[in-house]
Amino acid sequence: MNIHEYQAKEVLSKFGVPVPAGFAALTVDEAVAAAGKLPGPLYVVKAQIHAGGRGKGKFTELPPEAKGGVRLARSAEDVRAAATDMLGNTLVTIQTGPHGKQVNRLYITDGVDIAKEFYLALLVDRATGRISLVVSTEGGMDIETVAHDTPEKIQTLTIDPATGVMPHHGRAVAAALGLTGDLAKQAEFVTAKLYDAFVGTDASQIEINPLAVTDDGKLMVLDAKVGFDPNALYRHPDLVALRDLTEEDPAEVEASKYDLAFIKLDGTIGCLVNGAGLAMATMDIIKLNGAEPANFLDVGGGADKEKVTNAFKLILKDPAVKGILVNIFGGIMRCDIIAEGIIAAAKEVNLSVPLVVRLEGTNVELGKKILADSGLPIISGNDLGDAAAKIVAEVNKAA
Ligand code: ADP
Ligand code: MG
Repeated sequence: MNIHEYQAKEVLSKFGVPVPAGFAALTVDEAVAAAGKLPGPLYVVKAQIHAGGRGKGKFTELPPEAKGGVRLARSAEDVRAAATDMLGNTLVTIQTGPHGKQVNRLYITDGVDIAKEFYLALLVDRATGRISLVVSTEGGMDIETVAHDTPEKIQTLTIDPATGVMPHHGRAVAAALGLTGDLAKQAEFVTAKLYDAFVGTDASQIEINPLAVTDDGKLMVLDAKVGFDPNALYRHPDLVALRDLTEEDPAEVEASKYDLAFIKLDGTIGCLVNGAGLAMATMDIIKLNGAEPANFLDVGGGADKEKVTNAFKLILKDPAVKGILVNIFGGIMRCDIIAEGIIAAAKEVNLSVPLVVRLEGTNVELGKKILADSGLPIISGNDLGDAAAKIVAEVNKAA
């Protein structure tokens, strides 16, 4: 689960991480009022969307030479003008995709005079199974570009969970950034506080870009992207409250209500599968047959009729879906029960696209018989390869 920059900064500052003062605003008047509460004379008006690259982004309703989603303002009137430009407008950045994202919230924050910009991220490194610090002197830039063009400018440090963050980690960060004296001490402090925040919130990612050195010698977090491990959110109701559903794909929000693992994709074949690995294999084999999956969907091990029905409804909400492939391995669940669930769901949603079902496992013969006797135009797949070939052929036939 991701949150907005202003929320991320609130969370981080509770752990002692230094951030500039600021206030969120939903209207132009709120933006001007927010500036009134800040010392000035420099303010920054920042579009709040779940995507980076806002500074260099473009608004669809403004001329291309207009400034992006991070603007410096020197007066209340500047703040008003920037807020008027941004609110309700659509911002396209390298991370939003070509459709962009509508800006519904702003963050009005203290402008600081920047001497240097760095990059510092914490993430769970799957290779080592530990939290890693990723550090670069090339802050304020797109880190993917830095990794591609000048990988030697990125350093990675790994933290042993048995010790947690130690002063030597902070010193290594300071050294990687070329900081000495008091700034090195601040780097140690910020590193330790970010680690505390990471562990304390069960974060999956904290990306600071830029971590800035100000003209008056302070190290400050100017931009923060924070994501949390969804499996640990039950421990953090305060963080769950920060979720902004308008930033998420509506079908994925709907899916999470029914406890379905669903990810919307761009293809034409809807997939209904139990088990994440089988769901991945199903998508692969659809591609192997020359078509594209419309979604990833894992109904989970204990899928019942209601879950299967909800899954069908979700898949069919996508107008691009031209056929559905059900691929279920009945291990704990019996194939006959699944077959009944599929029939009930197909009837309830008035299924209008071809449906291929591949069942395997306990009571598979009975399950197949139930499907065959249902009177519904359900095509049975003998195995995964056969099922994928059949659904692709059906969709191609209809096209
Ligand atoms: P994004 O990464 O989405 O473009 P940032 O918050 O990183 O958004 O802002 C882009 C750039 O704007 C930063 O690299 C920094 O140079 C500048 N900036 C951001 N916040 C401030 C601030 N509070 N004061 C001064 N400059 C800022
Ligand atoms: Mg940034």
